[in-house]
Amino acid sequence: MDKYVLYHDLRDALQHGTCAVCTLVEQRIDRAVKVILREGFTDTELRGSYIRAKGYCNHHAWQVREAGDPVAHAVMYRGLLEQHRASLELFMNERNKIGEAVSKESPVQRIRSILQGIKEEPKKKTDTETVRYLDSFSSNNRCPLCEMARSCELRYVESIIDYYEGDEDFKERYRNRGVLCHPHLRQLIQNHPDRAILDELLEIQLGRLDTYIEHLTEIEKKANYSYSEADIGAERGGWIRAVHLDVGVPGTDTSYKLKLKSGNRLGDFVLKD
Ligand SMILES: [Zn+2]
Ligand SMILES: [Zn+2]
Repeated sequence: MDKYVLYHDLRDALQHGTCAVCTLVEQRIDRAVKVILREGFTDTELRGSYIRAKGYCNHHAWQVREAGDPVAHAVMYRGLLEQHRASLELFMNERNKIGEAVSKESPVQRIRSILQGIKEEPKKKTDTETVRYLDSFSSNNRCPLCEMARSCELRYVESIIDYYEGDEDFKERYRNRGVLCHPHLRQLIQNHPDRAILDELLEIQLGRLDTYIEHLTEIEKKANYSYSEADIGAERGGWIRAVHLDVGVPGTDTSYKLKLKSGNRLGDFVLKD
């Protein structure tokens, strides 16, 4: 990305009074979706990354769908569904094989062969096949659009702290309107904890939180008595800004909100003894 363009894009994005990183990532992904729909079925790299990731995440799948291109979707999803079909067929065959083998054996035969280590216990074998099938839905590759969003976020967050430190005009603008949503505030702190200038950005963020809370309090107060439109002040839209501040734009990763116990991811298939 051209540094000059990035600087001006960030500077302009500050005018909205919402997280500038979110604004630019959203624009970047919108453009990428257009490219995917235009070139997705001819560009083998784009197609490959889509298939390797087992398709898009929920949010991006619907975003691409909203842009609506039946032919591009047909090409992308046929490849994906063919893989799913093959995995399901394999799983069904394995289950049938296990079922047939078990029904042919007498209980004594089964116990004898398990004890002799000739055969896996049928239940264990079924569990293994189930884990294998459930695993076929996941990938080591992230959704390509999430991946793109992530690398843009890192770049924009870093640029904000760099420009804030090195450019007076940018600093002034950020002081006036700058704010970061929580996902991007976390990234800023995670990736740049040792930068002394970080404290200034946190001070600004604290002031913004005060303003947001004031606006929310106003909305609550005004709900308790009748008021005319003229009474609505700066708090207008404050509730939507609060949502944006807390989770970023749609598609922003907020998985940090759930503290996971080690070794047990939510939704994992757990083998029972
Ligand atoms: Zn953001
Ligand atoms: Zn995604």
